[in-house]
Parts: sequence; C-alpha cells; structure tokens
Amino acid sequence: MTHKERLMAVKEGKKTDRPAFVAWGPHMNLIDRNAKDFAEATIAYQNTYQFDFIKLMPNGMYFTEDFGQALKPAEHIFDDTWMNVQASAVNDPHQWAKIKAPNVKKGALAREIEVCKRVNDYFQGDVPVLATVFSPFIWMGEMTGGFFHPEVILSHFEYSGREARAALEMIAETNERLMEAFVDAGAAGFFLGYQCGMAKQMGRDLFDECAKKYDVRNINAIKDRTWFNMAHICHGDAQTSEWFLDYPVDAFNWADREKGQHTIAEMRQLTDKVLVGGLDHANGYGYKDLQCRYLPSNDFAGSDREQIKAHVKKKIKEALASGGVKTVISGGCGWSEGSLPRFSLWREIMEEIGEEWHHEA
Ligand SMILES: [Zn+2]
Repeated sequence: MTHKERLMAVKEGKKTDRPAFVAWGPHMNLIDRNAKDFAEATIAYQNTYQFDFIKLMPNGMYFTEDFGQALKPAEHIFDDTWMNVQASAVNDPHQWAKIKAPNVKKGALAREIEVCKRVNDYFQGDVPVLATVFSPFIWMGEMTGGFFHPEVILSHFEYSGREARAALEMIAETNERLMEAFVDAGAAGFFLGYQCGMAKQMGRDLFDECAKKYDVRNINAIKDRTWFNMAHICHGDAQTSEWFLDYPVDAFNWADREKGQHTIAEMRQLTDKVLVGGLDHANGYGYKDLQCRYLPSNDFAGSDREQIKAHVKKKIKEALASGGVKTVISGGCGWSEGSLPRFSLWREIMEEIGEEWHHEA
C-alpha cells in the first residue's frame, strides 16, 4: 500500500497492511524562512522516516509575519520562533481597526504555500500533505500577548469587543484564502491547531461565538476539496477537549498519554473519527531545559534497544486495541530532536505488527 492508500483505508475503517503512523517536529528553525531549504528538509524528513502523512512544520507564528509582527530569526537549532517575538503586531486593542488583510500571494504566506507545492510536486500524491493553520482566535492571540500572555487577547475581547470582533472576521477571511491556496498547492487536508488551554480560559460562550463558529466556517470552506483534516487539540483538559468533538474534521490528535486528558479508549467512546496518538512525545522537562530537546521522549527513553522496542510495541498494541482500525499511531504534539534517532526502531515495530496481522489473517 502507498502511504496515501493506507491513510485512506484507515479513514474508511478498512484493513491495512500495517498500522499507519506519523510524527512531526522539531521545528526547523534554521531552515524554515526559505521555501526551497524548508521543502528540501521536509522531503528528507519524510524519506528518512516513511510516515503515512506529512504534517508541514512551519514556524508556528508565520501567519503573523505579514501583519507586521517582528520575529527574531533563529541563530541555532533550538531557537524556536514562538519564543522569539520582538514586537507584537497589535499592542493596543484600537490597532485592530487599522490592520489590513495581507495578500496570501505575497510574503510569508506565499512562502508557506510554495513549500506545500514543492513537497507535493516531489511526492506526486503518494504521501498526503497536511498544511498547518491555527484557529483565527489563536492567530490573534499570537499577534498580541503570544503564547506567554494569553490574557491579553482575552482582555481585548472582553473590553474592546467591537474592534476585536471586526478584526476576527478579517483574520478568519484571510485564513480561508490561505487554506484555499494550500489546497490549490496540493494539500490533502489540514493540521488545524487549537489551543485547548486557550479554549478553557475563554469559557464556553466566548469559545462558541469567537472560536468555534469561525473554525467551522474555515473547515467547511475547504471540506469538499480535501479528505484528511485533523484537529490538533493542544493542552487543556479532557472535559474541554470534548467541545471540539463536533468539528467537521476527519481525525483528532491530542496528548492522550498526558494526565488529565482522555485516553484513546475514552475518546473512542465519544467519536467514531480517526484517533491519532498512543505514544508519549514528551519527556517531562520544560521547554527551557535543554534536556527537553536532546533527550528522547518518555516512551523512547533508555539505553537498551530491545527493552525500548518491547515497551513501545506494547504501547502501540494497546493504542490499536482501544482505538480500533481507525487509529494512527503518533505522539500528542511535536517531537524533539532527541527522539528522532529512535524513529527507525518505531518503523520496525510498525512493520512487525503488519507481519503479525498478515499471519493471523
Ligand atoms: Zn500541540
């Protein structure tokens, strides 16, 4: 089966030759501001690990660049863009009335579309490509306080609702133009980033009015021209993650191995969509600790290859048993540098499970 055939079969709940798997991360900080370099690195990543789809890994702030956000270019591989905002695009809520929609055919947005096109031109449809976009509300959060101060965008909506809501319409419209351009560039669907932690802070009413409504509108605009849209529900908790269950997507990805989140078994009781997870992508260190980057994730930790392999295989089999045929093995978010050398071991496991399926059949 090609990667595309395998992922399509999973989506349709049909049998596959082996279980599907995917990972993304780390960010390609020294490379991701140049379309040619970034596309080449993405192609090399896929050719090395042989995942069943590609989640494009742009710097998480790219949408804000053309709105005037100043981002410090990376100086080393751990120098993540999301931590390097030099000046926010919007500092005062009244600025929302002045900002203009950028042309998606120019600047940073055009760069990301070109990356998508280059990667698709190379794989010619054999590997599904998911472009990465965030919820319009999250983009606005990035343009104000960033990931460190979510309270700023919340206060704009609370105290300057008229300006903020008018801008939200424009941001959602821009997101839609961008998504259409990604589809024209060959995207099979989207990695739709939702900070569930932000949703929790918004509360249900603001979430329904200013996040969900626009998210659903964005997805519906491209739904008929795509076939694999995955909601990435980042952080938050089990209860809040349920607010996303009726989004018109094909798959859900969240940190199922994290405390306070739904397990795959629990999520399977709530939805019949594809569930993407089963492995722990994190290692317990905070993003400021270098160990967070160079050590493998909890599931890949250790020094004995066979022991690690036995542990990971057990976790994968548990995820497949609880998620059923509509499961893609993955982590709950982006992986760091330290896990990458273990990915060939991971692929070996996927192939062995495929062999076992073959003999059982
Ligand atoms: Zn995440």
